[in-house]
Amino acid sequence: MPIPTLFEPFQPIAAIATTQPAAQLFTALCPQIGAELHLPDSLNQPATQVFAEPLKDYVQKLWTPSRTLIFGLATGAVVRLIAPLLTDKSQDPAVIVIDPLGQFVISLCGGHQGGGDRLTRLIAQLIGGTAIVTGASQAMGLPPLDVFGETYGWRKGPGDWTKVSAIAANGQRLQVRQTAGSQLWSKALAPEACWSLSTEGETPQAYLNIGVQPPGSVEPEIPQVQWYPRVLWVGIGCVRGTPQALIAQALTQVFQIFNLAEAAIAGLASIDIKADEEGLVDLAQERALPLQCYGAEQLREVEVPQASPRVEQEVGTPSVAEAAALLAARAYGEAQLIVPKQILKPEGYGITVAIAQAEREYLGQTGQLWLVGLGPGALEQMTPAARVAIVQADVIVGYSLYLDLIQSLKRPEQVIEAFPITQERERCQRAIALAQWGFKVAVISSGDCGIYAMAGLVLEELQKLGWDGQTPRVEVLPGITALQAAAAKVGAPLMHDFCAISLSDLLTPRQTILQRLTAAAQADFVTALYNPQSQKRTELIQEAQRIFLAHRDPQTPVAIARSVYRQEESIIKTTLAEMLTFPIDMLTVVIIGNTTTYLYQDWLITPRGY
Ligand code: SAH
Repeated sequence: MPIPTLFEPFQPIAAIATTQPAAQLFTALCPQIGAELHLPDSLNQPATQVFAEPLKDYVQKLWTPSRTLIFGLATGAVVRLIAPLLTDKSQDPAVIVIDPLGQFVISLCGGHQGGGDRLTRLIAQLIGGTAIVTGASQAMGLPPLDVFGETYGWRKGPGDWTKVSAIAANGQRLQVRQTAGSQLWSKALAPEACWSLSTEGETPQAYLNIGVQPPGSVEPEIPQVQWYPRVLWVGIGCVRGTPQALIAQALTQVFQIFNLAEAAIAGLASIDIKADEEGLVDLAQERALPLQCYGAEQLREVEVPQASPRVEQEVGTPSVAEAAALLAARAYGEAQLIVPKQILKPEGYGITVAIAQAEREYLGQTGQLWLVGLGPGALEQMTPAARVAIVQADVIVGYSLYLDLIQSLKRPEQVIEAFPITQERERCQRAIALAQWGFKVAVISSGDCGIYAMAGLVLEELQKLGWDGQTPRVEVLPGITALQAAAAKVGAPLMHDFCAISLSDLLTPRQTILQRLTAAAQADFVTALYNPQSQKRTELIQEAQRIFLAHRDPQTPVAIARSVYRQEESIIKTTLAEMLTFPIDMLTVVIIGNTTTYLYQDWLITPRGY
């Protein structure tokens, strides 16, 4: 079963193979990424779609309806097949080629705007192949200029994208002029990046504008590009039955007068009695904008510059357009009324328009929390699904040590939010806030995220906020926990019933820990001790030894495993009697055998009991 949300942005995906080996590879791959498999009938093999017509015609049919095409064919053949179909990189599907052995995954076309580069990396992670991505921005460690704004729901505006992209890729100075939206994206920029946020210094080679106004033409000799963050909430009032076209026209007029770009509209806002106003509803739908409606009692609480007693008499609030715009914008931080109420009367229909600018942009997407277990340390001990989630996330939240472990997976435009180890709750709250805003957030834990880690904390915090179980969406991605990693290193100590006990008394009363130790020792569980000893807490491990000695032979095998699967790994096999003569710290997990566990040729074995 695929993790449904991981590959959603690339759907629909069509995978086409024409040979037996490629078909075999794709048959395994397709269900994992939610792709449809297309095979020629001559192969005589089950597939989602079997085709009889010539490949060339068939690919032409798939071209427009697909967001992504994956070919299991020679690259040359693919180039010939798609050449006549290519039109524009903003419209063409992404094209990826994979060799039949799955060694190489090539991003051929639509790498940026089509998302092909990213999917190429994800598939390479999944099948253990090498991603071939030849664009320059990745190599420069820079966000891809022409797509990075999509993460923030920004709309792409006019500009000489090709030229400015080339300037950025050459490492020349790009001046960023941001006047709207959040600057979260800039946290991903390396300090030495040639994108400059400050206006001081030498003359830039190009401008990147991020704001609500269309680019001016003051410095025509310096090329520029424009992103529009969606921060503008348009409050609208109109008489019953106003046609959609007239409302749209009024909007355009006001936006022109105030030199604002309609692409920066986050949504429309009005009073609840307009929630079924046809022209308004249709306009919102046509432009895929939310329409936020508020009751009169809510609107009348908003302080506005132009309160109208006549409107108050009619609908019970002295302001509709201004108050609604402000209310909608306030859901995204501080709000400013940048266009006070304008009254237009096209064809005799009275329309009022007001515009409020929000501090934070509207993303227009449902947030996602991936609670990811990284495994004990080494990248190859991480599940492919966990790796994919990390590559896919817009923001990665975690403890700094673990963030180092995943450096090699990081995309240049990904934002990393590192917290010190103690601030678990703050980490969760930040992750939740980002997901509620609409981002895809990976919260990472070492080992398994549901074992003494972040998954439970995040779910508890969500519950406190009255979460409906669905928005933001949550998925838990498991990882190899410390006790499994340690067990693997020493043999097979967990072959019979076992348990884990954390000796940390920060969140658990000492008494409970002692009780559980006693019960585990009595019941002859193989026992893994997590958080065994810190600088301050040294006596619980001694208590643990004492309790186990009361029920088990002093010669019972014990494994002391530190930083398993990390560079500083150390594994010691000893006995219950001797265990405390070795260093034990918070990077260590201790496994105490049961009464049948024994050591053979340096391997720890707990008999299964057959
Ligand atoms: N979620 C983690 C556990 C976090 S609690 C997991 O599933 O593994 C932290 C404790 O886990 C540490 O004090 C240590 O006891 C253990 N631990 C985590 N990673 C480890 C590793 N690579 N080697 C040894 N012990 C580890």
